Amino acid sequence: MRMIVALSKDIAPREKEAVFSYLADNGFSVREQNVGGDVLLVASGGAGGAVSGGGIPAVSERELSLLPGVARVAQTSKPYQLAARETKGSDTIVSVNTGTGSVVQIGGARICVIAGPCAVESKEQIAETAACVRESGAVILRGGAYKPRTSPYAFQGLGMKGLEYMKAAGEAQGMPIVTEVVSPELVDGMKDLTDIFQIGARNMQNFELLKRAGSLGKPVLLKRGASATIEEWLLAAEYLLAAGSKDVMLCERGIRTFETYTRNTLDISAIPVLKGLSHLPVIVDPSHAVGIRDMVPRAALAAIAAGADGLTVEVHPKPEKALSDGPQSLYPEQFERLMRDIEALAPVVGKELLRLPRKESGEPKKNAADANWAQAFSLVTEKIAFCGESGAYAEQALDRAFGENAPRLALPSFPAVFDAVLDGSAVCGIVPVENSLTGTIHENYDLFTRYPDVAITGELKLRIVHCLIAADGASLDTIRTVRSHSQGFAQCKEFLDKHPQWRFETWNNTAAAVHSIAGDGQTPDITVAAIASEAAAKVYGLKALKSGIEKNPQNYTRFVIIARRNVSLPAAAFLRENSAGEQPNKASLVFSIKDEAGSLYPCLQILNKYGISMTKLESRPILGQPWSYMFYVDITVEESGKLETALAELKNQTENMLFLGVYRAAV
Ligand code: PEP
Ligand code: MN
Repeated sequence: MRMIVALSKDIAPREKEAVFSYLADNGFSVREQNVGGDVLLVASGGAGGAVSGGGIPAVSERELSLLPGVARVAQTSKPYQLAARETKGSDTIVSVNTGTGSVVQIGGARICVIAGPCAVESKEQIAETAACVRESGAVILRGGAYKPRTSPYAFQGLGMKGLEYMKAAGEAQGMPIVTEVVSPELVDGMKDLTDIFQIGARNMQNFELLKRAGSLGKPVLLKRGASATIEEWLLAAEYLLAAGSKDVMLCERGIRTFETYTRNTLDISAIPVLKGLSHLPVIVDPSHAVGIRDMVPRAALAAIAAGADGLTVEVHPKPEKALSDGPQSLYPEQFERLMRDIEALAPVVGKELLRLPRKESGEPKKNAADANWAQAFSLVTEKIAFCGESGAYAEQALDRAFGENAPRLALPSFPAVFDAVLDGSAVCGIVPVENSLTGTIHENYDLFTRYPDVAITGELKLRIVHCLIAADGASLDTIRTVRSHSQGFAQCKEFLDKHPQWRFETWNNTAAAVHSIAGDGQTPDITVAAIASEAAAKVYGLKALKSGIEKNPQNYTRFVIIARRNVSLPAAAFLRENSAGEQPNKASLVFSIKDEAGSLYPCLQILNKYGISMTKLESRPILGQPWSYMFYVDITVEESGKLETALAELKNQTENMLFLGVYRAAV
């Protein structure tokens, strides 16, 4: 049994020393490790190696957790420790520099697609493949310079020359590169050329290679050995982590089974198993698993559905001419189609497909969009406001839009979010405006008319899966009271109707409802439950009695990102689409018209005249003016030039018009 002690980020040197002495005084030997951004002390032994009867080290875990500067204490009996899920409070997010000032983050709420040929064959081939996979949406370029081939007579790769070609191709596209290192002696020569080291399946247990590659502090993609168990694989990852690597990704690439139809057997179940056992991101390589081109895309989608954080896919401009793995390499068109399918699947699994900024032809590589994108995804240093607390759906939306590391400001109400944006205590905010089951969230739409200086700068859609959450010992029969936000009740009406004896209490947000039942942790009340996300249940150590209680699984909430009007923000490119340099294609406005017959008609005519399509039209009563209304309109625009003219004409036709913002529509 080992104790893992996670230290707070701001621990003082004196406090750290005190933690070390406490452990040493109790007979532990202590090793300090940095794993995925967390500083951990791994303590083994304890009271001269003695452990109490239940296998618990003879030191009080509680006492340890109360020492100043200690964030968390966990125990693990697994043979791997640094790779174990218990070791870290959250999923590891691996950061890789693109070389153009931005950072690709792998893990968490993102899906990262790596693509490229099996092997670098020539300068032209890698440059052409890089351009085409980048165009379809890959964010990292793969390719082998040193190829571990089964036959000594097969093409062995171009070696360092190939790596140089690949680096140039990656740089030309603003993409980081990943390439396999096959022996410890090659590590030093390759380290300045590659962004990520790949350890191949054949080398998964080459421990000298793992130690060497892990010691450089560069991200490593560790492939699973063809006959390796999950435990052996995690122990190989442990070698990398123990050697000092903090950015390790696991890559399932198929294992040897009795089946011979496919090249290997893709172990889909390894994905959820790893997610349970480890905090490391899981990438899936469907190409080497399946080995048959036309079957690769379906296996790729299955991997995403099973919870993979990303894919690595072989693509070749002319697979029939490829020097290695041609039969499993996708044609560029197949890859493009796969990327579109992944984009459609991503919201179903609550994730966002990671994109690089779009490259305009002829534009310099290091353009402004790159810088904005970097800020939006990894360098946001100012706070983003949301309503709720840890575990709230709005926080999940925030993670998707800005990354898990973005600083945040949790506030108790929607007006407080608008206030924070207005007074500058938050650089922007994120609020829900519409749900696919219950319609418009009027409270927020109405706030736009109260806060005319706040505008919409982006949107995103989040899939909402509600759970009925309660304390240990509770069951559907013990519940008397259910707490949630009004949206939670509305979206789960059918389920709640089956329990007419339950009382409902409305809370400001779903996470606060969960927090309220967590209480002080001493006396769990088994008569109350809350409707909220599984994430909220985890935050407060509660369990989901039932999940998926929303009335239809196609349950999405549309969030908008709000900012002060006319303020040029450091992270103006909030959402993937905007940040990718694509033009905004959606606008929202509110207007009122004369209270007379047919006065809406000319407004619609203007939209029709300019070929602008309307995705929302809704009337809301104007406060204090009975029977007069504001119209809320969302329109999609293809040519922004037309939009300006149309808006000018619309302004003349209406009594009051408030332009809420122009932004890129969420997929
Ligand atoms: C590769 O990715 O090119 C490769 C050789 O894969 P694996 O090590 O999984 O066989
Ligand atoms: Mn290959």
